[in-house]
Amino acid sequence: MEALTSRSVQVSRKPMSLAERLFLPAIFKGMGITFSHIFKKQPTIRYPEQKREFSPVFRGLHVLNRDEEGRERCTACGLCAVACPAEAITMEAAERLPGEEHLYREEKYAAKYEINMLRCIFCGLCEEACPKDAIYLSETFAPANYNRKGFIYGKDEMVIPNVKTDPEGYAKAKGSPRNN
Ligand code: SF4
Ligand code: SF4
Repeated sequence: MEALTSRSVQVSRKPMSLAERLFLPAIFKGMGITFSHIFKKQPTIRYPEQKREFSPVFRGLHVLNRDEEGRERCTACGLCAVACPAEAITMEAAERLPGEEHLYREEKYAAKYEINMLRCIFCGLCEEACPKDAIYLSETFAPANYNRKGFIYGKDEMVIPNVKTDPEGYAKAKGSPRNN
């Protein structure tokens, strides 16, 4: 019969030897591949002792920013929540009271601000949508947790430390030079 393609191969019907029936050639071939990798450079990074360099465009955990006087920048306008394709952001707005001018920059502020990190796809659209430079994605990633509630980050986890009272914490949270 004429072959349909030139790549067809005749199947060998040769009976297997004892070594082949014991899979010895296959085992030695596999071991050879394994041993050849011992002398190659390991691509594995031993995290957390070793940390890899972040890409300049890496987007990690969110930080809620303060202004140069240490006041929260967010005015609870909701634009970040509208822009978020994962519907991960929720907030509750509140009116700034007299005497709170040193805490909040605008007359309205986010009394509650939450991001569900299990929904978030770290696209950065919230950062782009914010007209107040109040939110950005840092170079930190969400640590592991034992329950789902632990991945809902509130203001206590996201508001950047006050530059006046905690300059070290502020610099650490600020992280990436692209945000300085
Ligand atoms: S990074 Fe994207 S998915 Fe995550 S909260 Fe911001 S807009 Fe939503
Ligand atoms: S983070 Fe920005 S966009 Fe989101 S509510 Fe606050 S001010 Fe508006």
